[in-house]
Amino acid sequence: MTQRGVTILGATGSIGENTVDLIARAPDRFRAVALTGGRNIARLAEQARVLNAEIAVTAFPDLLDDLRAALSGSGIEAGAGEAALLEAAERPADLIVSGIVGAAGLPPGLRALRQGTTLALANKESLVCAGPLMMSEAAAHGARILPVDSEHSAVFQALVGEEVSAVERIIITASGGAFRDWPLESLASATLEEASSHPNWDMGQRITIDSASMFNKALELIETREFFGIDPARIETIIHPESLIHALVGFRDGALMAHVGPPDMRHAIGYALNWPDRLDIPVARLDLAQVGSLNFRAPCEQRYPALRLAREVMAARAMAGPVFNAAKERALDHFIAGRIRFTEMAALVEDVLASISSDSAFRADVTLDNVRNADQMARQAADAWLSVQAH
Ligand code: NAD
Ligand code: MG
Repeated sequence: MTQRGVTILGATGSIGENTVDLIARAPDRFRAVALTGGRNIARLAEQARVLNAEIAVTAFPDLLDDLRAALSGSGIEAGAGEAALLEAAERPADLIVSGIVGAAGLPPGLRALRQGTTLALANKESLVCAGPLMMSEAAAHGARILPVDSEHSAVFQALVGEEVSAVERIIITASGGAFRDWPLESLASATLEEASSHPNWDMGQRITIDSASMFNKALELIETREFFGIDPARIETIIHPESLIHALVGFRDGALMAHVGPPDMRHAIGYALNWPDRLDIPVARLDLAQVGSLNFRAPCEQRYPALRLAREVMAARAMAGPVFNAAKERALDHFIAGRIRFTEMAALVEDVLASISSDSAFRADVTLDNVRNADQMARQAADAWLSVQAH
């Protein structure tokens, strides 16, 4: 078996840690090329030493000396700042895992595609912001994108050996997040702590809060549209509180193929790392007799306005994706900082989308510059929204 060189963008995050865990368990199969992280220098250096990576890079230029010191004597190179991050994505590797959170994952993701390699993509925001650009860049350079988001990995697996033309619908499951059973009138007073605990999955704080608001599911619907190129009318969401079925694909003959497994991201990550092979992955095996029953219910759009907004974004495309994503990222910053209530996140995003949709920039082509511009406009509008509310 040939050894695969793997780069992990966002190695110190939740997706990154799970990837490091899988790679550390299979040293015959994988070797680490570049690892990137943020402010957690101690952890980044530790990962680089454990995996004997070629280089470790922090996104923050002021932390270069700290990283160098933490790596001293190891022979591992250190890098810092945006250019170093892009260089890490360009360093030849068989597989690049993108576990960066937010729109910041787009530029390194594009660089990774340019080397014509395989990008295992957890960073759904890059597809939401620039799906057509990511897909065309992949095609132009003979690169492949493998989904790492559990739902999209599930759909991808259900499609093996199938023609996309045979697909009637894709059903993305949702746990419903922390507040699925709360009375609607209590949502406005939900605290940060309450929003930061997920009923089934152990993930980074931002995606966990996005699960409570279902902004995460909104991003995933758009991700489905962009990745599989399917008509949004054929994409459905269903609440499935157990989080054991990750997605279903419905075919034109009426068959539904469901992907079933425990809520452990190491499955989807491991599938991408080993693709097209299937090798042992240390996730728990489901005991269906113990599971007993699986439940489903339709999502309530009053509880989850983000789902309605996702439909609008999928219909508009162009800059709707980056505006939606950036407004959502700022709304989340404001909620985490205690500046707005939980329910105000959707109100803010809806207002920002409405205010920018009349601007001609909203209909611009999906280029990196236009996406950056739309992203900036939306962040400014999100901050302006805050000051208007305060008066
Ligand atoms: P996280 O917050 O745990 O980790 C994010 C990583 O990105 C960290 O290594 C951090 O240092 C790095 N990072 C943050 N900001 C950066 C910036 N501006 N520039 C460069 N690096 C930066 O996030 P996570 O939960 O692991 O999620 C990562 C991505 O994977 C997100 O897009 C998320 O939606 C997606 N995802 C996560 C899970 C999960 O289980 N956590 C599941 C499915 C999809
Ligand atoms: Mg997901």
